[in-house]
Amino acid sequence: MGDTIKITGIRAILTAPAGCNLVVVRVDTSEPGLYGLGCATFTQRYLAVKTAVEEYLRPLLVGRSVDRIEDIWQTAWVHSYWRNGPVLNNAISGVDMALWDILGKRAGMPVYQLLGGKCREGAAVYRHADGSTPTEVEDNVRRFLAEGYRHIRVQMGGYGGRAGELRKPEGALPGAYYDDAAYARSVPLLFEHIRSTVGWEVELLHDVHERLRPTDAVLLAKRLEPYRPFFLEDPLAPEDIEYFQAIRSQCATPIAMGELFNNPREWMPLISGRLIDFVRMHISQMGGLTPARKVAAYAELYSVRTAWHGPGDVSPVGHACNLHLDVVCPNFGVQEWPGFPEPLQEVFPGCPEVRDGYMYPNECPGFGIDLDEKLAAKYPCSTQVDFWTQTRLPDGTAVKP
Ligand code: MG
Repeated sequence: MGDTIKITGIRAILTAPAGCNLVVVRVDTSEPGLYGLGCATFTQRYLAVKTAVEEYLRPLLVGRSVDRIEDIWQTAWVHSYWRNGPVLNNAISGVDMALWDILGKRAGMPVYQLLGGKCREGAAVYRHADGSTPTEVEDNVRRFLAEGYRHIRVQMGGYGGRAGELRKPEGALPGAYYDDAAYARSVPLLFEHIRSTVGWEVELLHDVHERLRPTDAVLLAKRLEPYRPFFLEDPLAPEDIEYFQAIRSQCATPIAMGELFNNPREWMPLISGRLIDFVRMHISQMGGLTPARKVAAYAELYSVRTAWHGPGDVSPVGHACNLHLDVVCPNFGVQEWPGFPEPLQEVFPGCPEVRDGYMYPNECPGFGIDLDEKLAAKYPCSTQVDFWTQTRLPDGTAVKP
């Protein structure tokens, strides 16, 4: 009788309760009151995802059995023939997570139970401490330590550092300027300051955000090694992954990579080559829980840990999905978490709770999280043209953000 519940509707809900455009997919079923939610958030191109969900996946999938999660994933993945792009992967993820949510609700179990049960009670999360000076960063590190966090990402002046005094050529175009050389010099000084003032009891992380040229990234990884970072995040762009060999051969700084990845060909060589220590893909960006749990299992065989992408442009539904994987995977490393502001918690009842540095899943069936659509409608998404991704070097060259 398991095959009798069908998909009757699929739609994308757009909302920005915390100022960040979120896309959540709702899958309705032939069983009254039974529906699932999934994260399909691609903040910068959210309308394209909504179109992919409602104009392409809905006609393909309505009428199919909600039981066929794997079959639906495989079918949706290749149905467009061209595949592995961020828009379509996010659309598939929204449906995929929603189907897992439905499965949990039918079983009366949290999704983590369906995945094999807990390896740990909660997932350690890391917080983001920024500041314009090493002392300001130190103050923020101490604040997070006082709140119970043990993993803290230290940045100074945002990704790529502060622009400072720029000597741009005449007529340089507007953009989000930064000085890569000044940034590269500043990071070891920041780590020196934090280690000498706060000490060694805290796990320090840092995100390069692909802001350095490959050889400069190798040098930074070497220079940070004495400060024992927990990991150095995205030191290279996805287009430069061959340079990981150079980092690995020259130092033992742990490396995390992958928030921009879409395609198995991007993460497979890094895992099988033992060139990174943490995979940190954006789970909706790679197509949802179905591919993510396979990658986690694959990484486990190589002693590579997980650190799934968990910024503000992952919906609380996506954070719940991250968390359900975190607690079941023996090779879990750490979970990025930006905090859930009040409006976000109101729109998404059942948000995972964080206490003393650990995030805990609730015991409700599925992902244990809901969406108040009436309230969500009060926070429309922004159509403003993003500025921060219009990144430029001091001489005006447009570069990766
Ligand atoms: Mg990052």
